[in-house]
Amino acid sequence: VVELIWVVLEQRDGAPSPLSLELLSAARALAPRVEAFAWGDGAAGAATAAGAHGAAALFDLGDLGRSLAAPRVAAALAACAANGGPDAVLFGATYDGRDIAARLSVLLDRPLLANVVGLVLEGSALVSEHAIFGGAEIVSASFTGPGPGLFVVRAKSFEATSGDGAPAEVVAVSPPPLGPEDGAQVVARHVDERTGPSLDGARVVVSGGRGLGDAERYGLVEELARLLGGAPAASRAVVDAGWVPYAYQVGQTGKTVKPEVYLAFGISGATQHLVGMKGAHHIVAVNKDPAAPIFQIADLGVVGDVHQVLPRLIEAVRSQA
Ligand SMILES: Cc1cc2nc3c(=O)[nH]c(=O)nc-3n(C[C@H](O)[C@H](O)[C@H](O)COP(=O)(O)OP(=O)(O)OC[C@H]3O[C@@H](n4cnc5c(N)ncnc54)[C@H](O)[C@@H]3O)c2cc1C
Repeated sequence: VVELIWVVLEQRDGAPSPLSLELLSAARALAPRVEAFAWGDGAAGAATAAGAHGAAALFDLGDLGRSLAAPRVAAALAACAANGGPDAVLFGATYDGRDIAARLSVLLDRPLLANVVGLVLEGSALVSEHAIFGGAEIVSASFTGPGPGLFVVRAKSFEATSGDGAPAEVVAVSPPPLGPEDGAQVVARHVDERTGPSLDGARVVVSGGRGLGDAERYGLVEELARLLGGAPAASRAVVDAGWVPYAYQVGQTGKTVKPEVYLAFGISGATQHLVGMKGAHHIVAVNKDPAAPIFQIADLGVVGDVHQVLPRLIEAVRSQA
């Protein structure tokens, strides 16, 4: 029987990440008690949102200073698990989430399941769903050994739903002292300058692929995104070519997005790309090849040259502004 689930909650200035709220909402639907672990400046400020999304308690590890988060957070989780562990721990598939999950797996000597896109209760067992072959198939998995089950969950696998739960009770936890593991120090932080919505939360995503031809033409994608109040994105081919940073990449090894509208220009629709955007509510694709796989999932497809369609679309949107 699943009685307690822990969620590793990532926050900034007391605001939980959207993915953390998705994890809490999923956990709340699966277990009668959900507890969150958070760290960093202002972590306790996440208690209200955490409570509304299902957490009864929020364990606050405090400001970790220049320490890398993962060794400390994993050590704190392991120490807490020794006093009566949960049935499952949910991590977001982020840099920190993956790092913490891997370390906790070693500390507890438990396997972990990664790339989770769904979690359901079958009888009293937690069964996770995983997208494989670039999202072409879903397989189910569950742990048969002793718990806790460690699950690394992809963004947008669950809906974040806020209820009327009271703020989570904040409990201060001191991470146990670490040895050489704590030797790595964060020496600088860089926040990417961005105007417009983030790719994760944008209602409109305008995405460009290799079919655009060159980095300069990718500028048209950014222009249209700006006009539509959306976020620009890209296929891996474009990221690999160095036209845009990795943060723009949508797909299996990039971001998972679920906007109202996803516009794809010069993107073929490889399964590794589709897995990151096929949950979009409306998909519009422009590609000169009528056999391009992207058309199989597009709600609206334009067989045409992006170099003609994109400038005219920009013109049309501008004239309506
Ligand atoms: C392990 C692994 C992980 C991967 N992860 C990702 C991932 O996260 N995200 C991702 O995107 N890919 C990923 N890939 C790569 C993926 O397989 C594809 O190679 C990639 O998505 C192709 O990008 P593309 O559609 O821009 O380019 P292409 O496949 O080259 O497609 C370009 C398209 O543009 C069209 N085109 C060309 N000129 C024009 C024009 N003038 N007007 C209109 N259309 C035109 C062509 O018809 C073609 O369909 C991964 C691959 C592997 C093996």
